[in-house]
Amino acid sequence: MAAGICATLARAVTPAAVPAPIKPLTAAQLEAARVLRDRAMSDDVGYEFLRSLTSEVGPRPAGSVGYDRAVSWALAKLKALGFSNVHAESVWVPHWVRGEARAEVVSPWPQPLEPTALGGCPSTPSEGIEGEVLQVTTLEELVALPPARVRGKIVFFDARMERTRDSDGYSRAVTPRGRGAWTADSLGAVGMVMRHAGTGNDRLPHTGGQTRDHGALRVPGMALSNPDADLLEHQLASGQPVRLRLWSTSHWADSVHTANVVGEIPGRDPKRSFIVVGGHLDSWDLGTGAHDDGAGLAIVTASAKLIAQAKPKPWRAVRVVFFANEEFGLNGAHAYARVHQDELPRCVLGMESDLGAFAPWGLECRVPVDYLPLVRSMLSVVEPLGIEFAGNQAGGGADVGQLRERGVPVMEVNTDAAPYFDLHHSANDTFDKIDPELLRRNIAAFATIAYLATLAESGFGRLEIKKP
Ligand code: ZN
Ligand code: ZN
Repeated sequence: MAAGICATLARAVTPAAVPAPIKPLTAAQLEAARVLRDRAMSDDVGYEFLRSLTSEVGPRPAGSVGYDRAVSWALAKLKALGFSNVHAESVWVPHWVRGEARAEVVSPWPQPLEPTALGGCPSTPSEGIEGEVLQVTTLEELVALPPARVRGKIVFFDARMERTRDSDGYSRAVTPRGRGAWTADSLGAVGMVMRHAGTGNDRLPHTGGQTRDHGALRVPGMALSNPDADLLEHQLASGQPVRLRLWSTSHWADSVHTANVVGEIPGRDPKRSFIVVGGHLDSWDLGTGAHDDGAGLAIVTASAKLIAQAKPKPWRAVRVVFFANEEFGLNGAHAYARVHQDELPRCVLGMESDLGAFAPWGLECRVPVDYLPLVRSMLSVVEPLGIEFAGNQAGGGADVGQLRERGVPVMEVNTDAAPYFDLHHSANDTFDKIDPELLRRNIAAFATIAYLATLAESGFGRLEIKKP
């Protein structure tokens, strides 16, 4: 009893924990970051990394032999670049096999199209499936139709993606890709085609994942380039019924045991605090994944390497994570967040790069508001690169966003998404589309911010943890 009273009194007089004051960056730290920034503008580690990845590995979708080669390549590359603690971390990923996809207009004016199967597309009978085209703009429009109008049709989602500097245009365009075929099937349709979630005007359609939330899809889902979608529109505008035939040999294979790849630049902090910088090692298979997300890996790797050479040395470690299967299920990100849950209190910041390597323009963060002055001082060093403040609502990216949901503050360097979505997920995503000067500018911005995050004594606090 007496002990209980003492404990109660002790609690009553113990002052509430006072957060440590947020220390500004020193003039010397900001100057060191300027030196690193300028050095990045004449450094070609990132460009050579990306040339090597695209030419020696190339396409690397989840579960493929290409992805296995990417893991071996990445382990060897990080070791060769002098990273510490380079290792693979186990991840299981689904394995969808593309096979071949064909589509043709049967009537009123027969002609072949150049489609691409969307991830998760099943195979069709060998004679294909045929149906009248039902043109809609959105999922909402489709579900509002009487089911009798959808039954037996091939649903055509015909919304043109808007070209925007941020990824808003893509976010709006991508919904039918994820759920279109599933929704069409649930209403009795026999297939789905969509104007691709991309802004390119050549005849190379952009692929991407479809939802796996409801199990394996039963009807084919394909994307059409803008010219092919236009052609379909013109035939539909005649008022005559338009019939399509779709063939697919896509199918699922067994899940595959593979890996995230991790490497570190050591820090000086005896408490072993660190930041995570990441991108995804998998890519879609039509191109060589140069911008998506080879560029992201080049940016984080070259940044970490520059930080390793900086003076003063980073206080915190920089952990580079190459995530498995961002494109079709985030398996690598989920595995990483789960396995490293216990050390997340030592993870001061997460940064992801996954929007290509066109002109960087914004620094976006998600930190407790008290830390915004610290972010503003970091911004001052990258402003000469054309970077402006882009708000405190950053999602952190698809992979590192999993850490944000567990309370880790995040920062992003926003890049120009307009040219990116001309080639994203298409056969055009190849190394020749990388502008070396813009890649260097991205690396300079990313490395500068990451370096200052390794030096900022106060860290960036914690975010409110999202309830499951
Ligand atoms: Zn990506
Ligand atoms: Zn992608």
